[in-house]
Amino acid sequence: MLIVPERDIADLMTREAAFDAVEQVFAAMASGDAYNFPVVREAIGHEDALYGFKGGFDRAGLTLGLKAGGYWPNNLEKRGLINHQSTVFLFDPDTGMVKAMVGGNLLTALRTAAASSVSIRHLARDDAKVIGMVGAGHQATFQLRAALEQRKFEKVIGWNYHPEMLPNIEKVAAEAGVPFEAVDLPGMQEADVIVSITSAFSPSLMADHVSPGCHVACMGTDTKGKQEVEAALLARATVFTDEVAQSVSIGEAQHAVAEGLIAQADIAQLGAVINGTNPGRVSADQITLFDGTGVGLQDLAVAASVVDLAVEKGIAIEVDF
Ligand code: NAD
Repeated sequence: MLIVPERDIADLMTREAAFDAVEQVFAAMASGDAYNFPVVREAIGHEDALYGFKGGFDRAGLTLGLKAGGYWPNNLEKRGLINHQSTVFLFDPDTGMVKAMVGGNLLTALRTAAASSVSIRHLARDDAKVIGMVGAGHQATFQLRAALEQRKFEKVIGWNYHPEMLPNIEKVAAEAGVPFEAVDLPGMQEADVIVSITSAFSPSLMADHVSPGCHVACMGTDTKGKQEVEAALLARATVFTDEVAQSVSIGEAQHAVAEGLIAQADIAQLGAVINGTNPGRVSADQITLFDGTGVGLQDLAVAASVVDLAVEKGIAIEVDF
């Protein structure tokens, strides 16, 4: 069995490798070669923790496994540890034997940023110049860093519920040499691409804050009840997702579907666009929206990729098991 500890991930995993792994697994999901298992998420009644499993099997990439972990809200204050904790386990699909154990914390941020990047690559207008960020927390920095590589962006605009956090994303823009401007929500009309990544339970971005031709990646809503954008925006947009079942139950589309504004059948898999079986964006003034709910197969794909890189560099720890 191979072990790739959390401490080694930053030096091993690249944004490019994460992008390729996520793009491939989205394609495999859409062609029926890969599927996610039902998600388990439990309040365990200890330390206020939420713990669960996300797993799946990719027959094309021969990746089988699960990510185990969750959210321990007291970690930072009590122990100086980060609150989100996860570990990925990979199994040999031929034998069922455990293959690898991989730190999942940084990988989660990289695979989530890769998902919105894949959506921007395939759905945003080629001439997109202005990217808008709604959110400025931990994930937002990863999102912006990866998104900036997808088009020749000339400006970043940002809004955050807690304005004091905006310097987090301003710093990422500065590192990429792109000017940053803080805006109010109607100011998002200037954006050609908007990435939304907040933990909100009520919408910030309204349908009339988004201009025709914009691509919106909604990345924060991954739980029943959360909501980042007005449901009416999904009715105005052509909606894509990682997995339709998650989109309508725990994703941003849960609200538009519940309100009868769109139907499940209106939502397409991003993988179908990657595979060429869905045309994706068909006009310059169409609004496209990606509902990125986060699937277990994304975690397995980046974990398998990082194991390959660790083996290549001779730093994977091998143990008899
Ligand atoms: P964080 O705590 O670092 O940041 C939270 C962000 O939400 C901040 O920008 C904060 O200002 C904003 N926010 C908080 N309350 C708000 C409100 N009422 N209205 C508007 N904005 C508000 O969290 P993070 O680690 O950056 O995670 C952000 C979200 O992304 C979480 O909901 C998390 O569950 C989700 N997430 C999704 C995926 C996925 O695959 N889709 C993966 C990882 C995390």
